Amino acid sequence: MFHVTDCFDAAYLLNAKMNRYLVDASAHANHVIVVGSGICGSTVAAMLAQSGLKVTVIDAVAAHKGHIAAALTPVISSDDNPRSRLSRLGARLADRYWRDLQAETGVRFGSACGALQLQRPDGSKRAQDLKAQAEVFAQPHWARWVERDQASELAAIELPRGGIWYPGGWLIQVPELIGLLQATPGVQMMFCEVNSIERAGQGWLVKDVKGNPLAQGDAVVLANAGDVTGLLKRSGFEQAVSACSRLAALHRLAGEITLLPADRLRGGPSCIVGGDGYVLPAIDGWCVSGGTYVRGAQRAECTEMGIRTNIDRAGQLLGLSPEIDRYQNLPGWAGWRAVLPGRLPAIGQIPSMPKLWVFTANASRGLTWSVLGAMLIRDALTGQKISIGELDQRMLSAIEP
Ligand SMILES: Cc1cc2nc3c(=O)[nH]c(=O)nc-3n(C[C@H](O)[C@H](O)[C@H](O)COP(=O)(O)OP(=O)(O)OC[C@H]3O[C@@H](n4cnc5c(N)ncnc54)[C@H](O)[C@@H]3O)c2cc1C
Repeated sequence: MFHVTDCFDAAYLLNAKMNRYLVDASAHANHVIVVGSGICGSTVAAMLAQSGLKVTVIDAVAAHKGHIAAALTPVISSDDNPRSRLSRLGARLADRYWRDLQAETGVRFGSACGALQLQRPDGSKRAQDLKAQAEVFAQPHWARWVERDQASELAAIELPRGGIWYPGGWLIQVPELIGLLQATPGVQMMFCEVNSIERAGQGWLVKDVKGNPLAQGDAVVLANAGDVTGLLKRSGFEQAVSACSRLAALHRLAGEITLLPADRLRGGPSCIVGGDGYVLPAIDGWCVSGGTYVRGAQRAECTEMGIRTNIDRAGQLLGLSPEIDRYQNLPGWAGWRAVLPGRLPAIGQIPSMPKLWVFTANASRGLTWSVLGAMLIRDALTGQKISIGELDQRMLSAIEP
C-alpha cells in the first residue's frame, strides 16, 4: 500500500501542483470560515471543530430541508481507475466516520444497508455488462455480481434483474446528518448569503451583498457548490479561477427526488436499489425515488414531469407498476448539483491564495466525497501530514481544483 505520509519522495515534491497538499506548519489556522452549509461544508466544519479549531459556517438557506434521504453508492470500473479507487476510499472513510459519529452521539442518521446496482435491460441507454465488469474488477468483498434471485433476497423484494452488490452502501437521512454535524461544539452558524471575500492581513474577510463584513478568519473554505467560481469572480479573483486546472468549467445541474408511499412499492426495498436512478428503503412509510437531471434549468423545483419520471423509474427498478395517481401531489425535494467534467470533486487550495480552500463539484456523490474532502482540508489547516494513507499522486491530481 502506498503511504503518502511515509513517501514524500522526490517525484512527489517536484510536482509543484501538489504543493497545496504538502505539510506546511504555517498553514495552521485557528479560526476557519466555511461558506456553504450543505453536506460537504457541514462535514468540513464538524471535522475542523473536532480538531479544536474555531469554525464559522455561513449560509443563507438550509438547502437540504426536505431531502429526507440520499444514498452512498460506490462506483467501480473494470480497470479500477482513479475515480473508482477514490470512490472506494471515500466510501470507506465515510463509513468509519459515520459509524463513530452515531456511536459517540447516540443519534441515528443512517444505516449501512448496502446497495444494488441493477443491470439495465438490454438495449437501454448506457447499458454495460455489469457481470463482466464485476468479474474483471475482482474485489468481491467490495463489489460482486449477484443473480436475480440473490439480488431479490438482499433487497427483500422481488427484483426484475441481477446486478452488482455493494455491501458498503449507506442510506443517509440528510437533514439529520447535517443537523448533527452543525451541532458540533466549536461550530458557529451564521445565516446570510456571502457575496465576496477579501484579504485581511494574513487572513480573510467575508462580506455580504451590501459589502458589510460578516466574519474574519485566518482561513476560508468555499463549500458553496456551484457558486464557488461566481464568488471568486465577484471578489475580483478571476485570475485565481483561471489558474486552477479544472474549476473554470464548474456548472450547475438541477434535479428532484420524489417520495413515494412505500405501500405502493410492496413496502420498498431493504437496501438501495439503483440503475437508472435509485429507490431507497422506506423512511416513515415513504421511499425516495430519484433523482432527475435537468439541464439548463433556471430554478431547482419539483415538477409534474419530474414526479412522473421518478414514479416510472421506481416501477422499472422494482419491476412493478406503482399504481400511483400521476397527478397526485406527492412530496419531494429539488436541489442543485455542482458538476465538473469527469464527475470528480475539486478539493484543494487555490493556487497563490494562502489558506483559501475550495471543496466543490461533488455532483451526485456528495456523500461519498464529504469525509475524504473534509479530512484533506482538516489535515492541511491543522498543519498535519495527509492522514489518508491510501491516497496516491494520481488520485490527488484527479481532484485538484
Ligand atoms: C435530486 C438530487 C438527488 C441527489 N441524490 C444524492 C444521493 O443520493 N447521494 C449523494 O451522495 N448525493 C446526491 N445528490 C448530490 C448531493 O446533493 C451533492 O453532491 C451534495 O449536496 C454536495 O454537497 P456540497 O456541500 O458540496 O453542496 P450543497 O450540499 O449543495 O451545499 C452548498 C451550500 O452552499 C450554499 N451557498 C451557495 N452559495 C452561497 C453563498 N454565496 N453564500 C452562502 N452560502 C451559499 C447553498 O445554500 C448550500 O447550502 C443529489 C442531488 C440532487 C439535486
